[in-house]
Amino acid sequence: MKAYDSLSVSTVLPPELAPLRTLAKNLRWSWRSSAERLFAGIDEQLWRACGRNPIVMLRSLPASRVAELAADPEFVARLGHEAEDLSAYLDSDRWFHKHTRGTADEATSVAYFSMEFGITESLPVYSGGLGVLAGDHLKSASDLGAPIIGVGLLYTYGYFSQTLSREGWQQEAYAEHPPKDLAVDPVLDASGAQSRVSLAFPDGRTLEIALWEAQVGTVPLLLLDTNLPENPEDLRAITDRLYGGDAEHRIRQELVLGVGGVRAVQAYAELNGRRQPTVFHLNEGHAGFSGVERIGQLMAGGETFETALAAVRSSTVFTTHTPVPAGIDRFDAHLVQRYLGSSGGLTLVPDVPLARIMELGAEDDPGRFNMAHLGLRLAQYANGVAKLHGVVSRGMFAKLYPGVAAEEVPIGSITNGVHIPSWTRPSMLRVIEAMNGGRELATSGTWNHPEAVGAEELWRIRGELRAELVRRARESVRASWQARGAQDAELGWIRDVLDPERLTIGFARRVSTYKRLTLMLQDRDRLARILNNPDRPVQFVIAGKAHPADMGGKQLLQELVNFADEAGVRDRIVFLPDYNVTIAKHLVAGSDVWLNNPVRPQEASGTSGMKAVMNGCLTFSISDGWWDEMADDAVGWTIPDTSGVDERTRDALEAGALYDILEHEIAPLFYARDERGLPVEWVEKVRRSVSVVGPKVAAERMVRDYVTDLYLPAGRSARVASDLVATRSFATWLGDVRAAWPGVRVESVVAENREPKAGESVRLSARVELGGLSTDDVLVEAVVGAPDAEGELQSTRIVEMRPAHEGGSTFVVDVPIDEPGLLGYTVRVQPRHAFLQASAELGLVRLPA
Ligand SMILES: *Cc1c(COP(=O)(O)O)cnc(C)c1O
Repeated sequence: MKAYDSLSVSTVLPPELAPLRTLAKNLRWSWRSSAERLFAGIDEQLWRACGRNPIVMLRSLPASRVAELAADPEFVARLGHEAEDLSAYLDSDRWFHKHTRGTADEATSVAYFSMEFGITESLPVYSGGLGVLAGDHLKSASDLGAPIIGVGLLYTYGYFSQTLSREGWQQEAYAEHPPKDLAVDPVLDASGAQSRVSLAFPDGRTLEIALWEAQVGTVPLLLLDTNLPENPEDLRAITDRLYGGDAEHRIRQELVLGVGGVRAVQAYAELNGRRQPTVFHLNEGHAGFSGVERIGQLMAGGETFETALAAVRSSTVFTTHTPVPAGIDRFDAHLVQRYLGSSGGLTLVPDVPLARIMELGAEDDPGRFNMAHLGLRLAQYANGVAKLHGVVSRGMFAKLYPGVAAEEVPIGSITNGVHIPSWTRPSMLRVIEAMNGGRELATSGTWNHPEAVGAEELWRIRGELRAELVRRARESVRASWQARGAQDAELGWIRDVLDPERLTIGFARRVSTYKRLTLMLQDRDRLARILNNPDRPVQFVIAGKAHPADMGGKQLLQELVNFADEAGVRDRIVFLPDYNVTIAKHLVAGSDVWLNNPVRPQEASGTSGMKAVMNGCLTFSISDGWWDEMADDAVGWTIPDTSGVDERTRDALEAGALYDILEHEIAPLFYARDERGLPVEWVEKVRRSVSVVGPKVAAERMVRDYVTDLYLPAGRSARVASDLVATRSFATWLGDVRAAWPGVRVESVVAENREPKAGESVRLSARVELGGLSTDDVLVEAVVGAPDAEGELQSTRIVEMRPAHEGGSTFVVDVPIDEPGLLGYTVRVQPRHAFLQASAELGLVRLPA
């Protein structure tokens, strides 16, 4: 029968249950397991059915269940306890305040821009690692009290959910997520309406952007939404989904995030009486246009482009996330010109000359606009996300800093980390707390009480986590086969899929070529023998999504799934569809070994392996990303590097090493049991991995590093540059230096003592033509070291030279020499100014001709 009409019925929470709404609205519940259990316990089935989304669940509760809960004193007490805990958390005095109290640094405030934020499954504005990292950054910033506001996009459809066809081919589905289903609130303006910012496109149309706000503990996350009825259809669709669409769609998203994001965060601060952000952190190049907008605002106030750029640079932090040139975001230059140029007097950033914008994103190919170059040219502070990634980035971007050695390219590194309370199962969280002397979170260094939990206890916890993964994997495999069209009668075998006692290898990540999902399939027979070994059986649990447009990736997935489907191994190699943060949480915890086999050095950092460490899962990895700086046989296994061979040989060699280590080292260690059935050495390895590696890969350590190494210094240079009189004078100085630079020369370099002995010093003196600059404008340095066969200086030392006479152009220094042997030396000249963070940042260096 058809409905004559319909009504929407809402749930009313009685006053005793009102705190449920408060708890649901602050995403802190997502990293406090007792709060999550409180929600889940209301109705397990409903909780799962609504995607573990408390907002939707509370709205869907039948009145009878509401009445039951309100009459349940134990539930009401637990709720009261959680509500009090949240309010105490929000009010407490945290690390940042203690660290900066009474100093000028207290005033530093950071706007953190990212295309995605992975905080919980129920806020679907992420696709993978970059988003999860950004989510962990905000969560740890909240724990530490760091003054950050996140800025991102609210996607109508988020990212796709993944299922498989009968043939094992990836199927994508996009569900709509209306804001009323999400833990977001409209940002309200002074009149009580939802706050808006707008962008005027040069095609004469104006884009309206609505502002939403999510609460991540103490950290607000601003989300921009173009899906408004008053926008034309094509503009409404800008924030439709993550990483979908063509270049035009992408540049519009990046303009909304960058230009719209700056306007939004400024409006938000104004409306809420908060400090205006003083530091702008661009998490990857996607938000690079934010710098263009900020330059535009200063130019609208009458500043020159150079002054505005200097002020913006002083307060911008740029983090690069890919060591693969093909991974860098680049636009057709015409596309950028079309959006940022002017037409009929209309422009998006009215006061910035287009030619200057194009210079900021210039690269080798004149037809391209490079968002990483834009980020680097806009930021006086830049970093990669692991030590090796720092090295690779300095090489990759060396061209932007001509004349200096790769080591001096001003791109540092801060190794990624993961948010412990989000990624550690409650039982392992208690282990970590015990190892940390009973304190709630890691403070610093190592967790000094690794023995606090006994071997038997640790092994028992590991077994429970593995069993829980097996249980979930069986459910997921059953659901996946049903979705693939199998009948229940065919699925009896699923009861025996995986074994809770078997050595379990986890592998889950975005399916992209360099991560080599199918490396393990190089020798299928050998893999099958390892899996089926009667004494030391092994099982794999695998997950990952391929980008919808990546046919190669989908093929790899299909290959793997089909291999798993072959009789004989389908009970020991399973693929779990729809990898997301919830699956990740159980996969990293329940596996014994986390396998990571990217092509070195293409994995910038990787974070899933860090989550594994926190849960006592051991690392088995190529020496790449974060593991490259922590690789140690005492805490994991490393697949030896085979650089310098062709791709096929490399894959074959590395797969061979993978099988060898798995078969001859990992499996024997796992199955070596004492009389209690305990793998004593394995457990000791787990203990070392957790206590030694754990604290180094905590997001708390990462955020503290960002604060002390980048945010506070950027806050200081921003304060200096906010005195625009000083910044104008720097900009004028910079113009003079660039004009004079062609005339700067190192005319001669002399070592006065030609036969020095070790233990003495050598006086170097250099005559420098300053081209009209003063001695204060330049930094003159002697570079000494041992020359190699090509005359390149090795193990260099750099010492500053001083004018021999006041105002003269001869510079001298006495260099103490310790080591006997060949001593090479040279002299270099660079501009010097208090506004420069690194002498290399201008790319002006003069060496002897
Ligand atoms: C942690 C995580 C990632 C990132 O893992 P990598 O090791 O960096 O590839 C991707 N997706 C999800 C859902 C995650 O939880």
